Amino acid sequence: MLKYNFNESNLDIYRNYLKNIDGKDNKDIDLEYMIISDPQFLTCIKNNCVESWKYLKKSMKIPPTLLIDSFISKTNKHIDLIQPTYQRRKKNKIHCYFCPEKLCDNMEDKIKFLEIKCNCNKIYTHIKCGNDFILKNAQCDVCKEYYDVNQYCSSLRSILIM
Ligand SMILES: [Zn+2]
Ligand SMILES: [Zn+2]
Repeated sequence: MLKYNFNESNLDIYRNYLKNIDGKDNKDIDLEYMIISDPQFLTCIKNNCVESWKYLKKSMKIPPTLLIDSFISKTNKHIDLIQPTYQRRKKNKIHCYFCPEKLCDNMEDKIKFLEIKCNCNKIYTHIKCGNDFILKNAQCDVCKEYYDVNQYCSSLRSILIM
């Protein structure tokens, strides 16, 4: 069986390998090192699950079948398929067009707000923010249309459906 301690670092394992070479016929030692330096093999050592070993048997070019079988026979660990957890989607607050304050928490909130329309744009703002804007800008710079201003006390959704 393997004479390596897998709690050691890869470098230490390699140093042990060098120590084991004594100038004689090193085929076995070389082969052993080739196997244990395979990253897939090392992952299997770490996981030590039946499924990982079985997969390794199929995926390695020259799988050390007897060795893998002996690992399989000694472990009773199986891969746990963990159900993925999803993060709850954050509700996005809806912001006023002109200031960083929220206009409402969601489209269903009943709120007081201004709708300012022209040919090219439609914006929703706090009443004060919208009025301040309209006082300075009666016309749209882009389409030259006079703004159509409506005050609502309802949800944004009910306006957007209209
Ligand atoms: Zn505002
Ligand atoms: Zn416009």
